[in-house]
Amino acid sequence: MRLEELSEQVQDLFSRLDESISQFQSATTLHCGWGCGKCCFKPDIEATPLEFIPFALHLYKSGRADEWYEKLRSTQDPVCMILNPTSDAQGLCSEYKHRGLICRLFGYSARTNKYGKKEMVTCSIIKTEQADAYQRAEAAIDNELAVPVMNQYYLQLTSIDPELARDFYPINVAIRKALETVLQYYTYHDQEDTDR
Ligand code: SF4
Repeated sequence: MRLEELSEQVQDLFSRLDESISQFQSATTLHCGWGCGKCCFKPDIEATPLEFIPFALHLYKSGRADEWYEKLRSTQDPVCMILNPTSDAQGLCSEYKHRGLICRLFGYSARTNKYGKKEMVTCSIIKTEQADAYQRAEAAIDNELAVPVMNQYYLQLTSIDPELARDFYPINVAIRKALETVLQYYTYHDQEDTDR
């Protein structure tokens, strides 16, 4: 599959998810506080390379691929390198449009437990500062309120490219592997064009 097509399919999945999340947020009133981004400071966020292919392609097309590759290759910091702690915007993500699947799911999705019950996956701030709305949301989910289910979205991602969605890595490693995939793709295709 052509890289651009692969990226488009991932972004289509993101668009469908974003629509479901916005409906869930409207139904529950649950929301992130302005300028929060606390969840992005977690040092143990894991992701797949596939969910960062759109970001890696964006870096390549904007001529920043090598600069970012060097940063990701040399960092020992487990905290996401896309995070901008000094941002004064709604959130602290410097590439919000290109954030990963885990970034979109966290806060407004559910996972099914061993009894098949859907349990919300959200942060302690929402659970405490929006406790009433959170409890109403949990009750509504029990009464079939539509909520994005994490493993269902990762299954859809895997169906796009099983190889690039198979393994989870620390987020900066996942972003680096997505960038390696993009750089190798263009190196190969540039070479192919040269050989013609
Ligand atoms: S990509 Fe953006 S939203 Fe995701 S962890 Fe990094 S800073 Fe947070």
